[in-house]
Amino acid sequence: MKPETVFSGAAASGGKAFGIAAFWGSSDSSIVERAGGTEAQERALLAANIQRAKHALATLAYAQDKDAKDIIGLQIALLEDDTFLEPVFARVKSGMKADIAWETHLDQEIDNYAGSEDRHFQSIAHDLVDLKKRMLRLIRESPHSQWTSVQQTNLILLADDISPSDLLSIDRAALSGLALIKGSLTNHVAVLARGRGIPLIVGCPPAILFISNGSPILLDADNNIIAVNPDGNRQINMSRPPSKKPASPRIIHKADAKGSHSENRTVNICLNIDGPEIIQNIDVSAVDGIGLFRTEFLITDGQLPDENEQFEIYRSVLDWSRGKQVVIRTFDFGGDKVINGLIADQNVNPFLGVRGYRLSRMYPDLFRGQLKALARAAPYGNLAVMIPMVTAPFEMSEFKSEFQDVVAELGHQHIRCALPKLGMMIEVPSAALTLDRFDADFYSIGSNDLIQYVSAVSRDTLQLDYLADAWEPSIYRLLRECVSVASAKNVPISICGEIASLPKHIPNLLDCGIRSLSVSPGQVEVVRHAIGQWHRRST
Ligand code: PEP
Ligand code: MG
Repeated sequence: MKPETVFSGAAASGGKAFGIAAFWGSSDSSIVERAGGTEAQERALLAANIQRAKHALATLAYAQDKDAKDIIGLQIALLEDDTFLEPVFARVKSGMKADIAWETHLDQEIDNYAGSEDRHFQSIAHDLVDLKKRMLRLIRESPHSQWTSVQQTNLILLADDISPSDLLSIDRAALSGLALIKGSLTNHVAVLARGRGIPLIVGCPPAILFISNGSPILLDADNNIIAVNPDGNRQINMSRPPSKKPASPRIIHKADAKGSHSENRTVNICLNIDGPEIIQNIDVSAVDGIGLFRTEFLITDGQLPDENEQFEIYRSVLDWSRGKQVVIRTFDFGGDKVINGLIADQNVNPFLGVRGYRLSRMYPDLFRGQLKALARAAPYGNLAVMIPMVTAPFEMSEFKSEFQDVVAELGHQHIRCALPKLGMMIEVPSAALTLDRFDADFYSIGSNDLIQYVSAVSRDTLQLDYLADAWEPSIYRLLRECVSVASAKNVPISICGEIASLPKHIPNLLDCGIRSLSVSPGQVEVVRHAIGQWHRRST
């Protein structure tokens, strides 16, 4: 029996998982080399990534001018041209890995075009270099091309880092847990892992990449450890049910409600979701609705759903909610949520650059398509729509008039639609400090970003974890102020940042006057328990 080795890190999503080590890395990782599969697997990988590249290019073309659309159009046409692709598949058939076959073929074509006398053909060589790189990146970063595991289920993924969209592209059924050398406690990978109940440990030592492939691993995020070849005792403990589940005072927060209207003690608990699949197995009667639907995570394989697909998704969530409020946030790309080609590359500091509503303004077609889908879904339930990263009051007025315009346009076309409630996230200090100037139907506090902007501690920097609680006095003072402005204006205010999912912050949030919390699905019961304790303590 091999001896147990234990590594430690910081838990970004709790829980325990037992599985086997599997590696995954990016193309520029010198530690993990892409393991080629069988001929059939390589062929499938090539075909799948041709589709992904086409979708990503189509998304990129969405809001470009005519010249740019033509350039992108040529690349899409090549990806649809059997004659162009045939030699690549032939190379794979002869035993080459998909990426090498692609690279070899493209290099040949690039040489041919570059050697031409004709300026037009020479320019095509440039486009081919672009296409070559795009496909290589996709193939080499494709999660399924990077697995070096010996089995396909119960995998504990070990990696340097992973992006939110890559995490989403991994089959949830295969993944039991995740350990990263980088990562952070509040970035979007952590948010997604918590939402999906995937235990995640970040800040692990680089040595985790040298664990033998296929080794049994117990990833215990409740105790911040990764045990390789775990000893018998650990495995026995793992199989025991948790000793003390928090009581389930499902209606405590309602039953205990008392006091005058101004001292309202009823606390709503809503869900944070990033796709309709998250609520599939959740009974809506257990919560008060959806407080945050992060629509940017609807992207799959580099492609956003079109207006009709979005309409169906939004409607399905409204159907599920049976009249309870559903707050859908418009796309919040930027920061660590990158969509190929759509983010302005000149963002030196992505979290302070073109992200959230700022990015939506730059892509009016994309944004308007989303607003249309939302307006069409609105008659099917109690919909509220908010925009992220609001900095100045004019953005809110602009958003409202854009939405009214969309509703008018659909109305003229006799398309069924409605104007939902329109609100904003409070994530930027300038908005939090002057909330009275923002004309919104509701406010939602995005504490993840608000904390990083107020404290100047980036949410993706684990090394600054020692400042983890340094923000508390300033943020609570700010939140109290926001709640008081909102109640003076009679505008509902809630919180959907991660602190609302953490029991230790609940008493302070409630003491600030917040009465609506939107939390990760996996945290509902502990949050409810914390609310119950707060009620008992303060009565
Ligand atoms: C937040 O900033 O608190 C928030 C909920 O938005 P996101 O985490 O998606 O940036
Ligand atoms: Mg945010």
